[in-house]
Amino acid sequence: MATIAQHDQTGRRESGAAPQRFQMYIGGQFVDAAGGGTFDVFDPATEQVMATCPAGTAADVDRAARAAHRAFYEVWRGTSAQERGRVLFRLAERVRARRAELAELETRNSGKPIAEAEFDMDDTATCFEYYAGLATKINGDVLPVPVPAVALAMREPMGVAGQIIPWNYPLLMAAWKLGPALAAGCTVVLKPAEQTPLSVLRLASDFEAVGLPPGVVNIVTGDGPSAGAPLVAHPMVRKIAFTGSADVGRQIMRNAADQLKRVSLELGGKSPNIFFSDADFESAIDGALFGVFINQGEVCSAGSRVLVQRDIYKKFVDAAAAKAKTIRVGSGLDRANKMGPLVSAEQRDRVVQYLRVGAREGKVAAGGGVPASHTRGWFVEPTIFYDVDNGARIAQEEIFGPVMSVIPFTDEADAIRIANATQYGLAAAVWTRDIFKAFRVVRELEAGIVWVNHMQPTMVEAPWGGYKASGFGRELGRWGVEEYLETKQVFINLDEKPIGWY
Ligand code: ADP
Ligand code: MG
Repeated sequence: MATIAQHDQTGRRESGAAPQRFQMYIGGQFVDAAGGGTFDVFDPATEQVMATCPAGTAADVDRAARAAHRAFYEVWRGTSAQERGRVLFRLAERVRARRAELAELETRNSGKPIAEAEFDMDDTATCFEYYAGLATKINGDVLPVPVPAVALAMREPMGVAGQIIPWNYPLLMAAWKLGPALAAGCTVVLKPAEQTPLSVLRLASDFEAVGLPPGVVNIVTGDGPSAGAPLVAHPMVRKIAFTGSADVGRQIMRNAADQLKRVSLELGGKSPNIFFSDADFESAIDGALFGVFINQGEVCSAGSRVLVQRDIYKKFVDAAAAKAKTIRVGSGLDRANKMGPLVSAEQRDRVVQYLRVGAREGKVAAGGGVPASHTRGWFVEPTIFYDVDNGARIAQEEIFGPVMSVIPFTDEADAIRIANATQYGLAAAVWTRDIFKAFRVVRELEAGIVWVNHMQPTMVEAPWGGYKASGFGRELGRWGVEEYLETKQVFINLDEKPIGWY
C-alpha cells in the first residue's frame, strides 16, 4: 500500500560506522576548509551520515582558483597534447582498476542501483579515454585568403575553468567536465554537488600518480551559495560549465555577465517519449519505463512525458502500470533492487509534493506514494499518472524523480504539437516501425537529443545539450572540447612592401 507519510528530515548518526572524514583537493594537497567548517554527507538508503566534507567558502575557492591559474600559466598550457592525453589515459585506467570500489561508494552516496553505478564507472573511464585520444586532434585551420599572406585560425585553451556539477551522476558528470577541459589544456576548479562529493574526492587520490601536476585539477566542496557562487564570481575563472537546475542556471548566467565570463549550461528537461500505435509493443513498454525510471528518474533527460497514440492508449497504460508495480525498490547495494532511494530528504519531499499535485491533475495507474515497506531511506514508488493534460504542472515542471505522466494523442501533428509545448528542449524519443514517420517527427522536435526506438543511451562520441530553456553549449564528442577553446586569428604577411599608402 502506498502512503505519503511524514519522514524524519534529518540524517541519523546513532548507529553504524563513524562517518568518514573527507578533505578537499587544492594545489595537489588534501586540505580542510579555510574556515574549518564541515558538512554531513548522507547514505540515502539508511538516512545515516556516512561522511563529512569541508564546507568550502570564497576563501577556498580563491585558493583553488589561484592554484589553477598558476598551474595553467606555468605548466599545463605548455604541456604537450600527447602528454595531456597520456594523463587522461592513465586516469581512465585507474577508474577501471577501482571500478568496484568507486561504484560501491557511488551507490552508497547517491542511492542508485549498483549495476547502474557500475555502468557509470565504465562510462567515466570511456569518457576519459575519448578525450585522451582527442587531445592530439585539436587543430586549427589554414585559410585561403586572396592576398599574399598566410591566415591561420589557432585554437587555444581558455584558461581556468570553473565546473559546477549535480548529484545524479556524480563521477560521470565530473568526467564529462574534466575530460574535455584537460584535453583542451585548461585547468579546473570543480565543485561537486554537496549531496554527492565523495566519488570524485576518492578518485583524486590518484591524480598525482597519473601525472596530473598540482593545481591542474582542484576540487572545492561546499554548497551552491557558499562555494558555487564565489566560483562564478572569481576573476581568475574564465569560463563556467554548469549542469543542474534551470533556476540555478539562470542565476549563474546573470552572475557571469559582469565579467562577460563564458558559460555553458546543461539544464533540466520535460522530455517527451512518443509512442505511435505501430511501435513494437513490448519494447515500447520497456522503453517508457526505462526512459523515466532509470536512476530513480533523477535524470535531466528523463522521458517524463509519455505521449501515447489513442488506439493503443488504454492497453499501454495497463501494461506499463502492471510492469511498474514489479520494480523492486530498495537499497542500491542489493542487486535484486532495480530502483534506489532519492538522493536526499529534500528531493524526496519535493517529489512527494508533486505526487500530491499529480493525484489532483491526473489518475494514478501505479505507485503514487512512498513504499510502506521502508521505514528508512528516501524512497518513492515508481509512479504513473495517466489522462494528464499537457498543461498540467506534472507535465510542465521538472520533477526529477520516478514520476511518469501519460498523455494521449490522436495523430502525428498532435504528437508534435504536444511534444514541443514545453519551455524545455533537452531530449525526446519517438517509437514507430515507420522510418518515414520517424524522420518526419525527428525533424519537427525541438530538442538537442532525439532517440528513435530507444531512450537514454548516451555515447561519449555524440553531442549532448539542450534547445530552449534546457541550456546551451554542447558536451561530449568533439563539441565538448570546443567549449574550452578560444580561437585566435593569425595573419602572416608575405608581401615585402605590404602597405605603400603614404
Ligand atoms: P538541485 O536543486 O537539484 O540540487 P542545483 O541546480 O541546485 O540542483 O544544483 C546543481 C549544482 O549547482 C550543485 O553543485 C549546487 O551546489 C550548485 N549551485 C546551487 N546554487 C548555486 C549558485 N547560486 N551558484 C553556483 N552554484 C550553485
Ligand atoms: Mg539546489
